[in-house]
Amino acid sequence: MDFKNLTIKSFQEGFRLKEFSALEVAEELFKEIDAHDSEIGAFLSCTKDEAFLAAGKADTLRAEGGELGPLAGVPIAVKDNMLMAGHITTAASKLLEHYTASYDATVISKLKSSNAVLLGKTNMDEFAMGSSTENSAFHITKNPHDPTRVPGGSSGGSAAAVAAGFTIASLGSDTGGSIRQPAALCGVVGMKPTYGAVSRFGLIAMASSLDQIGPFTKTVEDSRILFDVIRGRDVHDATSTDFNYSPTEEEIKKLKIGIPKEYFVDGIAPDVSKGVTEAIEKLKRLGFSFKEISLPHTKYALSVYYIIMPAEVSTNLARLDGIRYSRDVKDVKKLKELYIKNRAHGFGAETRRRVLLGTFVLSSGYYDAYYSKAQKVRRLIQEDFDNAFKEVDVILSPVTPTSAFKIGEKTSDPLSMYLSDIFTIPANLAGVPAISIPVKKYGLGSDELPVGFQLMGKHFHEEDLFGIGELYERE
Ligand code: GLN
Repeated sequence: MDFKNLTIKSFQEGFRLKEFSALEVAEELFKEIDAHDSEIGAFLSCTKDEAFLAAGKADTLRAEGGELGPLAGVPIAVKDNMLMAGHITTAASKLLEHYTASYDATVISKLKSSNAVLLGKTNMDEFAMGSSTENSAFHITKNPHDPTRVPGGSSGGSAAAVAAGFTIASLGSDTGGSIRQPAALCGVVGMKPTYGAVSRFGLIAMASSLDQIGPFTKTVEDSRILFDVIRGRDVHDATSTDFNYSPTEEEIKKLKIGIPKEYFVDGIAPDVSKGVTEAIEKLKRLGFSFKEISLPHTKYALSVYYIIMPAEVSTNLARLDGIRYSRDVKDVKKLKELYIKNRAHGFGAETRRRVLLGTFVLSSGYYDAYYSKAQKVRRLIQEDFDNAFKEVDVILSPVTPTSAFKIGEKTSDPLSMYLSDIFTIPANLAGVPAISIPVKKYGLGSDELPVGFQLMGKHFHEEDLFGIGELYERE
């Protein structure tokens, strides 16, 4: 049996019907990883022993007739910025090369208690800063659809692992697009929940007012299953919350979809335009009604993000001095010299750039001109969404201006790299949920590169996105 195409849903069915065991599936997937991950580079580390134990446990549970939760026995990979007790957690940085987590992130404990099988930690841009996974301190990740191209980032390893069939699903984090953009470039489904829907406890923080953890899956149906396991209030994260919203299929079919004119501009690559138009046509055939809307402050989103995000990055990363978990710098006499050397050697170029930018925009004399001003414009961007959601229920747009670009194409031009996130950043600034869905099924080995479309919803209305996405996928 070919386990590479299993979805969470088809795993659940086959597992319950005893067509295979969880151990068998885990073993087969590790064979795939051992044989092919040297070409792709999706993983930074594997957790084989625990995976086999967890799979064995799920099999025993089934044999004993115990209650099998939605993820019992399901293989899942996790981005290397989420703490897993007893495992190296590097966030793809040299500064954390020797850091072993002492506790589980809340999402990890939720996966463990639902008897999921954790396969390992996936590659990413250092501290989640980047759009191509080329900023990992360890190695790059390649796009399984075309290994000369990037998988997107920063959760490129998690997206590539699902696309390559190394895992059924994975988790990533999204601060400005890091789940949705790699999902689009790898032809899988990626969802950024509403800010506060999923606990960030145990996630190595990038920009705390923007970060969210979310699922990568092969289908929208799976995205909901995984999201339902990780969501909800957690005492360790004061911003997290429970919520209840469950529209019926009839209600979903009546949702009105908005097309923001600011998102359909010159400069979008022809394959992306074509794909997104195809998606709109298909949704129209399904009976959805569309309306043109305006999000007038969109043009400021990228600038606002590149002030607020580095400000939070420089603050969050200030705690890293490299003394315990990095071993590069030796023979230093003075403490200050040690800090400077560790941070200069330990951080990659992109991380250093953002720490410097962030320190600058927060410095006295510039705080009001940059940081405070950016916060005010962020509010206007949030209000754009509030106003739009008075007219429509869901907003549809492209995810990225281009499909997967070539490895090395943008590394020497940070601004062109930053532009990759132009359509994903507003949802983080506004805190609304957003999903990236492949326009169609993209088989590995075809000439066509994957294209995704994005649906953004009202706060805590993830179900609207899943509902529309499922009808789309069923067609
Ligand atoms: N690519 C964006 C950045 O470089 C987003 C990163 C993210 O969402 N973690 O900041």
